[in-house]
Amino acid sequence: MGQQRHKGSQNKAAVTPQSTCPYCGYTFNRASGITGASNPSPGDFTLCIKCGGAMMFNDDLTVHVLTRKDEAEIGAVMMADIQRVGQIIREVRKGGT
Ligand SMILES: [Zn+2]
Repeated sequence: MGQQRHKGSQNKAAVTPQSTCPYCGYTFNRASGITGASNPSPGDFTLCIKCGGAMMFNDDLTVHVLTRKDEAEIGAVMMADIQRVGQIIREVRKGGT
């Protein structure tokens, strides 16, 4: 778990290829890693900022829905965290403007 040393003037959100949330259809082309890394890598997971759905980056940095295999690799503890953050996103969206 290395701390990201690289900071500076870069925006926190990394630009990714145009992707569509498989859950809600929200289209996005940037993502910030929830683990602290700002540049997503293939196999990293992310959450839809709109619906909180958990996704994983493909080799080309588009996204797919987490499969059971992905979930197994991420591990139950981390999955619980992901679900919790997703829940928070959904609640913020619901209660927000
Ligand atoms: Zn979504």
